[in-house]
Amino acid sequence: MKDSSPNAEEHGGLTIALSKGRILQDALPLLARAGVRPMQDPSRSRKLVLTTNQPDLRLLVVRAQDVPTYVEYGAADIGIAGKDVMMEYRGDGLYEPLDLNIACCRLVVAGRPGTPLGSPRLRVATKYVHTTRRYFAAQGIQAEVIKLYGSMELAPLMGLADVIVDLVDTGNTLRANGLAALAHVADISSQLVVNKAAMKMKHARIKRLIAKLARAVRD
Ligand code: AMP
Repeated sequence: MKDSSPNAEEHGGLTIALSKGRILQDALPLLARAGVRPMQDPSRSRKLVLTTNQPDLRLLVVRAQDVPTYVEYGAADIGIAGKDVMMEYRGDGLYEPLDLNIACCRLVVAGRPGTPLGSPRLRVATKYVHTTRRYFAAQGIQAEVIKLYGSMELAPLMGLADVIVDLVDTGNTLRANGLAALAHVADISSQLVVNKAAMKMKHARIKRLIAKLARAVRD
């Protein structure tokens, strides 16, 4: 039986991939100001393909780390992804035409206050393995990077690592676990990412949407 959701090529219109949580929460008001409103409430609906008030535009809800993959392979024309995810992504074939200035936070090195960062073979737990390796190499610090998928704050408390590299917004999560930011790695916000082939094939439609979003970011 044919699925009711055509793939991006068959769909003909525009498909935007974005992730649940902070990015969706901040992106919805921005999309609304650009004239795009989902027909279902994404926080309540279990649907992963959301139709919008624009018949030729739909939203895909995917994992944050999967957004650039959907866009690079053309399963979505456009994505909304954190700079943290884009710094870590190893593919190419994506344009990043617009900083949406939403879901802003910082990527930091954190640990128990006073933890020396220069100690030989510093152990660092993070889900951002490539970004962390690049950061410590640029600092001239030899670091052993341990990949974790969640609850990074536990790692220094349990002696799994000396420090972590993670996103921080208010700092409440770090403080609640007796940790503090020790060094700044990068300022983070969400980016609009666009498939290179779609940018050519659907140029006018995508340019119009980028212009509307750029206006919504400024307002
Ligand atoms: P906070 O306690 O406000 O510093 O928030 C820290 C927690 O929220 C950490 O677990 C982060 O991974 C997560 N977080 C903070 N900002 C963002 C963001 N912009 N996008 C995704 N996760 C975030």
